[in-house]
Amino acid sequence: MNETDVIIAGAGIAGLSLAALLSQRGLRVVVVDGAPHPDRLGPLGAGVNDWDRRVSALTPASSALLTDIGAWAAIVEKRSAAYDSMRVWDAEGTGAVAFTAFEVGAPDLGHIVENRITVDALLGVLEREKTVAVRWNDPIIAVNNHHTAGVQVTTENGDRVTAPLLVGADGAKSIVRRQLGFRVRQWSYEQSAIVATIALEQHHNARCYQAFLATGPLALLPLADPLLCSIVWSLDTSSVDAVRALTDADFVLALNRALGDQAPPVAKVGARAMFPLQQCHAVDYVQTRVALVADAAHAIHPLAGQGINLGLADVGVLADEIEQATSAQVDWGDLAVLRRYQRRRKTENLATMAAMEGFKRGFGSGNPALRVLRNAGLSWVNKSPHIKRWLTMQALS
Ligand SMILES: Cc1cc2nc3c(=O)[nH]c(=O)nc-3n(C[C@H](O)[C@H](O)[C@H](O)COP(=O)(O)OP(=O)(O)OC[C@H]3O[C@@H](n4cnc5c(N)ncnc54)[C@H](O)[C@@H]3O)c2cc1C
Repeated sequence: MNETDVIIAGAGIAGLSLAALLSQRGLRVVVVDGAPHPDRLGPLGAGVNDWDRRVSALTPASSALLTDIGAWAAIVEKRSAAYDSMRVWDAEGTGAVAFTAFEVGAPDLGHIVENRITVDALLGVLEREKTVAVRWNDPIIAVNNHHTAGVQVTTENGDRVTAPLLVGADGAKSIVRRQLGFRVRQWSYEQSAIVATIALEQHHNARCYQAFLATGPLALLPLADPLLCSIVWSLDTSSVDAVRALTDADFVLALNRALGDQAPPVAKVGARAMFPLQQCHAVDYVQTRVALVADAAHAIHPLAGQGINLGLADVGVLADEIEQATSAQVDWGDLAVLRRYQRRRKTENLATMAAMEGFKRGFGSGNPALRVLRNAGLSWVNKSPHIKRWLTMQALS
């Protein structure tokens, strides 16, 4: 049997970031993941299919955390794209808002980064950390919380690891959450997201584009190549299969119809992938000796690109509370320590989820009164510098 200070279930962006922060604070960490070790990245190709279709719009707060961890420089060196403006519009009406970094005196609004690049940079950091072991290809199959005697995970190949604290960073279908009886509020959005890399006919000008269509939101995220964007097209389950099955030429036509004249025309689309979307929020993020972070605690609609940003904020706060407990020589798996983490994170996470739900429902409705209201609302926001400034500052944090 192995003992360690903290077990982290899941070596995604959240789990690897937490492992780095905790080992940098002197704790021994074992990370367990069911997936194979990702290949370290070599030189990257530049064709439309050479980009990771999973990208994230990382806020300045997330890049600051990744800088503290020591991963940000490697991300920038590899490939990332700063964006300094965002255009949001109602494709069923006339309302539109433009946000710019200039208006709030910031250099940019964030960076678009391929997920595999963030993971690779974190793996580079962990290779230098002596107190972290990452076990790949060995999923957790059982979790037992013995409270005073610690919490134990059993992996598929029969290994057992025990620690005073287990962190579930194992994604939206978290086995930690399910096996330990955490209650959740969840519902399907009845939507799936199609993701792909597309080529434009004109430069994207470092701008994000977001159209709210009756069938769901469509986002274009600018990549480091000025003619390429990553798209996240969320579509109601009733229409997604038909759109996914379109030929490349017809898919490009459908994209251009959806974007109208609000974004540069699309010329070409790369290979497409699809993700079902669901909202899931754990009623509690913690119990004695266990904490949930990121998607394991709260999976939300990708329409405002907040998922991993909320997850990284969880990670920063949890690491901070664990550090305070260790400096005060208090048990870091104690419920009082973990509840402080929950208190500091839950309100923001819930507020963001509620806002996403409001956007999704408000823009998904064909109700004519609601349509008039949302168009008037967007135009009003666009003409209100103080409100716009406030919204932009929220997006930066
Ligand atoms: C289409 C789409 C677009 C998005 N765009 C954005 C965006 O622009 N900005 C943003 O902030 N967020 C975005 N998100 C959300 C973001 O991708 C997620 O919030 C983020 O990936 C969650 O990271 P995580 O580390 O919590 O979980 P994951 O990335 O899901 O990692 C979980 C890890 O746990 C492992 N695991 C699972 N089960 C077990 C087990 N039994 N044993 C051991 N290991 C296990 C998995 O192998 C995986 O490595 C998007 C999501 C989607 C679907």
